[in-house]
Amino acid sequence: MNTAEMRTIAEPGCTLSVVVPMLNEEAGLVTLHQRLSAAIADIGGGYEILYVDDGSTDSTPEVLAQLQAQSRNISVLRFSRNFGKELAITAGLRHACGEAVVVIDADLQHPPEIIPDMVAAWRKGADVVNMRRRSRAGESWLKRTAAHLFYRSINKLSDTPIPENVGDFRLLSRRAVNALNQMPERNRFMKGLFSWIGFRQATIDFDAGLRATGRSKWPFGQLWALAIEGVTAFSIAPLKLASKVGLVSALLAFAAGLYFLVRTMLFGDPVQGFPTLIVIVLMLGGLQLMAIGIVGEYLGRLFLESKQRPLYLVESYLPASEFDAPARVEAARSA
Ligand code: UDP
Ligand code: MG
Repeated sequence: MNTAEMRTIAEPGCTLSVVVPMLNEEAGLVTLHQRLSAAIADIGGGYEILYVDDGSTDSTPEVLAQLQAQSRNISVLRFSRNFGKELAITAGLRHACGEAVVVIDADLQHPPEIIPDMVAAWRKGADVVNMRRRSRAGESWLKRTAAHLFYRSINKLSDTPIPENVGDFRLLSRRAVNALNQMPERNRFMKGLFSWIGFRQATIDFDAGLRATGRSKWPFGQLWALAIEGVTAFSIAPLKLASKVGLVSALLAFAAGLYFLVRTMLFGDPVQGFPTLIVIVLMLGGLQLMAIGIVGEYLGRLFLESKQRPLYLVESYLPASEFDAPARVEAARSA
């Protein structure tokens, strides 16, 4: 599905789409589906559950095919390889047929039973229903502290406020989804994009459970990468910082130069000053490398954006038979 084929109006009869990005979730999938479909069976209106298989290498595709054979409400989108959760969500939002779209994790850390409350908030007029975790139970102290520091710094650096403890679990109205679908950038820091679009936002608190099965797919290194993505996508403050630090240190170096010059003229030059020299050289060298590094982070992203590659590749898309209007199936075939 390319940009031209992107859905902009909901499918008739499709009130709610639940988008579930997943990678290797075979163990918990059946339970997830049972709880999810039980939770949304009575929302009033048709629904689809859109499972986005982000290139799983276990039996997730087979389990999904089995589930889909038994239900008219399941859509399955499969990537050609693992493209990451942010892109799985992006693809899910582009293919979702609902008037409202809920994004939820596959590992049951986000309780599906709360979806009717989200739908109620949407029916009351909210465009974005943010789900805020009351506790980060089961996460290490290091991860919690790092997350806290990250939110503090990104909210200092960026003009778009990004609420703490609000993950990707949320509901979006059709116009919010359409707004997100218009964003072509590759650097998709979804938490930032969700809040960048604005509209009427509501917040519901919930208790995150423990991961039902398997383990978290976010090693610490990837979280660091995500944090850098977030900062560089939503702020150019580091670029400004680099030039400020550069300016200050250049001024310091100039003052030091003057000082040594005057001192030498007044008192001569005994063989001293070697340490000072080394210190200054090292300091300036370090600052320059830092500034170049920051510029490099942004330049690299500019380079990646400039190639205009598709964000992801779809291997297959099978819409729910409940809503398989010919146009949708056509779009799926040509994707
Ligand atoms: N996920 C994904 N692609 C990835 C990594 C994760 O679709 O490359 C899915 C994963 O299957 C789960 C959700 O994203 O449904 C959240 O992942 P996880 O539970 O590993 O992250 P955490 O809860 O630790 O932030
Ligand atoms: Mg999880």
